[in-house]
Amino acid sequence: MLAKDLFRNKDDVKTLRKAIESLDVKDINIMEVCGTHTMAIAEAGIKQMLPKGINLISGPGCPVCVTPSERIDDICNLAMNKDIIITTYGDMIRVPGTRKDISLEKSRMMGADIKAVYSSMDALDIAIDNPDREVVFLGIGFETTAPAAASALMEAYKRKVDNFSIFSLHKVIEPAIRSLLESKEVKIDGFLLPGHVAVILGQKGFMFLQYEYAIPGVISGFEPVDILNSLFLIAKEIAEGRGEVKNEYTRLVSFEGNSAARDAVYEVFKPRDDIWRGLGMIKNSGLKIREKYSRFDAEVKFKIKLTDEIKNTPCKCGDVVKGLIDPSNCPLFGKECVPDSPVGPCMVSSEGSCAAAYKYRNMI
Ligand code: SF4
Repeated sequence: MLAKDLFRNKDDVKTLRKAIESLDVKDINIMEVCGTHTMAIAEAGIKQMLPKGINLISGPGCPVCVTPSERIDDICNLAMNKDIIITTYGDMIRVPGTRKDISLEKSRMMGADIKAVYSSMDALDIAIDNPDREVVFLGIGFETTAPAAASALMEAYKRKVDNFSIFSLHKVIEPAIRSLLESKEVKIDGFLLPGHVAVILGQKGFMFLQYEYAIPGVISGFEPVDILNSLFLIAKEIAEGRGEVKNEYTRLVSFEGNSAARDAVYEVFKPRDDIWRGLGMIKNSGLKIREKYSRFDAEVKFKIKLTDEIKNTPCKCGDVVKGLIDPSNCPLFGKECVPDSPVGPCMVSSEGSCAAAYKYRNMI
């Protein structure tokens, strides 16, 4: 299938391309803050459609990609405990740790019991079915997956499923966006904002960009026409010298968002400082399980000591998730690092920039 076949309404696309071309903007960087957008942009060949001078750069919106390698090592150490079944979303299984020979896949070859699940509730069911084993769910993701993890944990609490616990790697997106803007390491003129996260946070969750940074952002859906429309709106604001936050994804995102989901997260988790690959330690950017639920907190239950050290690896994912380099600028891209033999998480994850760039490298 050619990229252009993804566009069901080709007239809309032509109109939007022309509209973007007509804007007076030069050398602007628009960051997409969501791995699903990264994949959709690559699949539809949107970068290639844009006029010169409008650059799309990837941001820290792929949760697997921003999880530091040390955390993968921690999980693999835990997985070797024979009493434990590790349950996780499939993407995590192949992510390498601080060395290429460390991953859950390699741990599984050495006898660890690792099961891929579609949801935290599936993990809870495994715990109920295996009362003699400890079942640890790797809680990973942003505001979109944290409510489901919180619900599973509350259910475990209610039903006294004491052999269930969560290793929380959950993160929240706002502190990472602030950190990027404040570091000034990369020039960002506007944001294509994550539609899924915004379903939970609402448009109001991103208004800080307008009020505190005067930088334009548009919450976007995932169809190619949504993305082009959002890019047009962002570029238009830049051209007119405005910095407002708009919502293009009104069919799913309200101004207020989903307060019940946010309440569930607040009930179970509290903010903590957390390390992001590439961005380092960011204040209040992670989610830690509250004391009330500590018997379901794998870190407490198994006395896991998280390491703060960030080791140097040849992988440039840290620069990719900050928009500093394009995946093709990594010397390992498509050589030592390919989807069948990934060196870093950005080549493993279904939302990773390197995986997207590799998969669609011959499009258009
Ligand atoms: S190509 Fe591979 S090694 Fe390079 S940044 Fe991407 S994931 Fe890391």
